Amino acid sequence: IHSTTKVHRIALIPGDGIGTEITTAAVRALRQLSATLSTFTLDFTQFPWSSATYLQEGHYMPSDGLAQLKKFDAIYFGAVGWPDVPDHISLWGLILPIRKTLGQYVNVRPVRMLDGVTSPLKGVQRAGDLDWVIVRENSEGEYSGQGGISHEDELHGVATEVSVFTRVGVERVVRFAFEVARGRPRRKLTMVTKSNAQRHGMVFWDKVFWEVAREFPDVETDKMLVDAMTVRMTLDPKSLDTIVATNLHADILSDLAAALAGSIGIAPSSNLNPERTAPSMFEPIHGSAPDIAGKGVANPVGAFWSAAEMVRWLGEDKAADVLMEAVENVTRAGVTTKDLGGKENTEGVTEAVHDIYTMAS
Ligand code: ATP
Ligand code: MG
Repeated sequence: IHSTTKVHRIALIPGDGIGTEITTAAVRALRQLSATLSTFTLDFTQFPWSSATYLQEGHYMPSDGLAQLKKFDAIYFGAVGWPDVPDHISLWGLILPIRKTLGQYVNVRPVRMLDGVTSPLKGVQRAGDLDWVIVRENSEGEYSGQGGISHEDELHGVATEVSVFTRVGVERVVRFAFEVARGRPRRKLTMVTKSNAQRHGMVFWDKVFWEVAREFPDVETDKMLVDAMTVRMTLDPKSLDTIVATNLHADILSDLAAALAGSIGIAPSSNLNPERTAPSMFEPIHGSAPDIAGKGVANPVGAFWSAAEMVRWLGEDKAADVLMEAVENVTRAGVTTKDLGGKENTEGVTEAVHDIYTMAS
């Protein structure tokens, strides 16, 4: 008998600002993890696609960039965006084409109070007091890219930004959200729209949701308007479990959710191609944070959690559990960065996670 070690090929895109710092930390943690468990290895290929590339060469990725990515088992992404490039250019130059072209039509964003982390909400004290999964539509909606600007001069201008909702697009993400809800103990799904004011796309979304709901009689459902949802998340966080919303709404709600759970620096996201016809992509929800970039103080927890989600997607459940347990041991011990009220830097938190593997092995 010879034992086989599985090799997972990972495309690594650090991007800009703290994206490069937190991906370095995550790669270190993943290397230590595979060395500790020795059941799999990760083969990283780095792509230096960033705002610096754009400023020099006029594009974020080469014309065959998406084709190159398709050969990998997963993509690990840091963050993109830099003050000297308009944000819509960096987003549309890199992250949005990857999500759309590689069929990553759901973005799963778990938000949970980690042990040792303090929420700004009074009623949220223990890990588990806030435990949500936000399922974000990731391929269409308000981010369709359709629209334009016309008649623009100093006094006039007309701009349209068209939201596109297709039956296929809404149905598949709603069904995915129901499956997520069904897999969690509370079996509860909240749909968020704005169907009082937006009478076409949002009403359509509601209708498709109630149709799909008939297939899941074991899942409790409710519906919220996005404005009222921000209030409920803040005042009654324990009443929520799984949440499904459009591309834009879920983006906004997940920043709020992360802040309520302690910091934007801890929240992970998985851009999933559920049929696995192309690689999925894993990234923390935060951006490149130019205000703290280059100082080595970024919180790496969102990057570690995203890395855990990636190895789980690749079938390495044990590794994902070990990594998350180590991260939560570290937050519990108060070894945290400034955004969580601690005194450590990125390196210190990464070392602390490493020490836990070493003790465990
Ligand atoms: P994007 O457009 O890519 O979503 P953004 O403009 O929303 O980016 P971020 O880069 O996420 O902004 O930063 C928002 C704030 O959160 C900044 O003050 C930043 O310093 C802080 N922040 C973001 N990520 C982290 C992190 N990992 N650790 C500490 N602070 C962070
Ligand atoms: Mg943001």
